[in-house]
Amino acid sequence: MESIEQIQNFKGKYPRQLWYLFFSEMWERFSFYGMRGMLVIFMVNQLGLNKVDANLQYGASQAFVYAFTFVGGLFADKILGYRKSLFWGGLLMIVGSIILAIDPKEFFFLGLGFNIIGTGFFKPNISTIVGSLYKEGDPRTDAGFSFFYMGVNLGALIGGYICIAVANGTMLSDWVPEHLRWNMAFGFASVVMAISLITFVWTQKSLGPIGISPLLNLKISTRRILEIVTYVASLIAIPFIILLVSNPKYTDRFMFIIGPCALAYFLFEMRSYSWPVNKKIIAALIFIFFSIFFWAFFEQSGGSLSLFAEHNLQTKLLGVTVDPNGVNNSANSAFVIIFAALFGLVWLWMNKKKIEPNTTVKFGLGFLFLAIGFYVFYYCKFFADSNGVTSLNLFTFAWLIITFGELCLSPIGMSVMTKLSPQKLQAGMMGMWFLASAYGQYFAGLLGADIAKIAENKTGLEALVIYCDGYKDLAIYALIAGLVLILISPLVKKLMGGVK
Ligand code: GLN
Repeated sequence: MESIEQIQNFKGKYPRQLWYLFFSEMWERFSFYGMRGMLVIFMVNQLGLNKVDANLQYGASQAFVYAFTFVGGLFADKILGYRKSLFWGGLLMIVGSIILAIDPKEFFFLGLGFNIIGTGFFKPNISTIVGSLYKEGDPRTDAGFSFFYMGVNLGALIGGYICIAVANGTMLSDWVPEHLRWNMAFGFASVVMAISLITFVWTQKSLGPIGISPLLNLKISTRRILEIVTYVASLIAIPFIILLVSNPKYTDRFMFIIGPCALAYFLFEMRSYSWPVNKKIIAALIFIFFSIFFWAFFEQSGGSLSLFAEHNLQTKLLGVTVDPNGVNNSANSAFVIIFAALFGLVWLWMNKKKIEPNTTVKFGLGFLFLAIGFYVFYYCKFFADSNGVTSLNLFTFAWLIITFGELCLSPIGMSVMTKLSPQKLQAGMMGMWFLASAYGQYFAGLLGADIAKIAENKTGLEALVIYCDGYKDLAIYALIAGLVLILISPLVKKLMGGVK
């Protein structure tokens, strides 16, 4: 077995284990985004829900998915270790999608419940393992996360397209009988998730001691009991999740409670660490706090921007006829795939030249790009015809700029979580990072609903103006957040105590 030193002293730009994690995460995201892309359409077309309820339940499910990454991270740090957590999460995700494949109508929320808990155990821990491949202070860490992020989006892009296409019958329709299309699409997600898990199991030996049990000091029998209790408790939680997700009014209460509880947990843990360690935890919490706003704006993609795409966009992109909703769903992932590795290399190059901006400034840049992107969405207003239909080219360009912002914030954020948290809080901290996404999803829904409500029953042109003006407001808020981050960067740098 390779020692941690041997793993971390790898030659070249990326450790070889990153490739294995890349593929595991790619398939997992294929399954996750494949399912996610089917949820609203399934609820409306198959379960007969109205659009408002479907959107609310979709938002709730996404908020819960990311909220449970905090719980998954916590149990990984305390009891299971990253590897067993990841395995358990993957298994639950496979079971969840098999349940959906068997009878999606009858067992919809049960399958969703399994997937929510499963993702909670899988998602934060695979990201934490990536961070563990690097020695403290290794300048190659951010580039590694950028590369990993490419895998995330490759999976998201292909899965997001294929699953819904099979369900709608635009793909494989000769092979799949009409009444089995949804079963097949959900079944597809389970097969792909199985590939993800097999990839991980086959390659996990290469991780040496990374991610093994944190309780090796305990007797093996005690350890087993604790592990089994965790597995059973997570299964018992599923009916509660189902109850919460199927009643969106509970989402508000849940979101009201989980964040403060998570924060209280970290404050409680901080009492056993020295000030230099706690300073870093505070810095991580500052990044987490700002990322909530980033995701709240960014996740307009699934909500208000998809309505905007449906009603107010031309169908030509660079002269080719396309589906504007398809562009809204996939342009971002495509741009991440094209530019993620390049961004990673740019950071490495800047590091060599000693001009690499620090993490807080990168976050600030992320917000500035977000602001410009949303300003371009606003600017679409000036390219509209009398029906309020505007340029898809410009809209897609906005996504390009927002993607640059995402690349300055999302992979860097994951990377810095692993750098700033003490060993025993690594996965919990990563869970906190994704918990911010849960709040982002939640606020995105509220924001999007606000804009959509004002635009209700308006003509195309009036709606366009309302949406675009709403995006201008978001651009201004993003600009302010970016400037604040850049202004406070010297202070945060001090808190980070040497971590870059
Ligand atoms: N798209 C990224 C992923 O799926 C980031 C998601 C998020 O943190 N909101 O990993």
